[in-house]
Amino acid sequence: MAAVKEKRPSPPLVIPVFIPHQGCPHTCLFCNQRRISGVPDPPVTSAEVADIVRTWLHRPWNRRRDRVQVAFYGGSFTCLPRQRQQELLAGVAPFVEAGAVREIRLSTRPDYITGRGVAFLHRHHVRIVELGVQSLDDDVLRRSRRGHSAQDCVNASRLLKKESMRLGIQLMVGLPGQHFSSLRGTVEQLVCLCPDFVRIYPVLVVAGSGLAQWYRQGKYRPLSLSKAVAQVAWMKKKLTGAGIRVVRMGLQAGPELEESLLAGPWHPAFGELVNSRLMLQQARHLLASVPGDARALISIADQDLSVFQGIRRANIERLTTLGLSDRFILRTDPGQGRGTVILKEIIKESKK
Ligand code: SF4
Repeated sequence: MAAVKEKRPSPPLVIPVFIPHQGCPHTCLFCNQRRISGVPDPPVTSAEVADIVRTWLHRPWNRRRDRVQVAFYGGSFTCLPRQRQQELLAGVAPFVEAGAVREIRLSTRPDYITGRGVAFLHRHHVRIVELGVQSLDDDVLRRSRRGHSAQDCVNASRLLKKESMRLGIQLMVGLPGQHFSSLRGTVEQLVCLCPDFVRIYPVLVVAGSGLAQWYRQGKYRPLSLSKAVAQVAWMKKKLTGAGIRVVRMGLQAGPELEESLLAGPWHPAFGELVNSRLMLQQARHLLASVPGDARALISIADQDLSVFQGIRRANIERLTTLGLSDRFILRTDPGQGRGTVILKEIIKESKK
């Protein structure tokens, strides 16, 4: 089988502007943003936004980037008063007009998306909106105290697509009341919404959240790490199979998270655990079709060697336990797509 070279555009330079919890009038069960923020920082001004962008653009190693995005992270942008949104966006506008920044991205809640609001964002160079959807199961949303319905997510997604925004969706696994059938329903509905990309986060119990109280009272039990990895692997397989990119799995490590983490499926390389699991599944599937008197020549992308082996060679150990480790020869191929395991040849063992 010929290896197909996957053409990947170079990633854009993303300049982050943090507006933690600003704009969000809710307190989801799992969220402790208010507590993490402590005494709220004074809101970032338009001039400060411009300074952040300028500083990033002037870093020598950033000069050659041709696709630059400014991302407003951490808040629910469209919940902010329009004047405040305008103030933040105005800090970026001169850079977009000068061609130094291509577009702006932001994240928000699905129930704060309106036609007029989207038109406003478009006029101010916003081209990517990420919605914190988390689940498309009303019962799960209600238990998680999200304060919006699945229909709000559907309406917001359709509106954003209609107005030519690129749509990102954030999902969670391990929410209260979220069983596998609920996850499956969410993924099936999500595929119909055709988002441009998805991020998936396992629910963690963090100090100061409503979930922390539930956890202490025995009302909530987090997913184990292996269950969370299995669920996210299943979701990634379904979503990528439908042509939807999964751009992140698991939360970014950071001192704030580590200090406040009480329980839950936390791993600093959660995404790699998921990718390793998916490669193991592919390898097992391929090897199942190899006759007992033969070995398989299988190939993976050059950069995937450690993912294929698994963290601390967990996949190799698993294949050994299954009696499969001597059933294949592994090759790496610089032209092969990431995350794929390809059967190149079946080699018959010569009889002595
Ligand atoms: S919408 Fe986001 S920021 Fe607001 S409470 Fe929920 S998780 Fe926290």
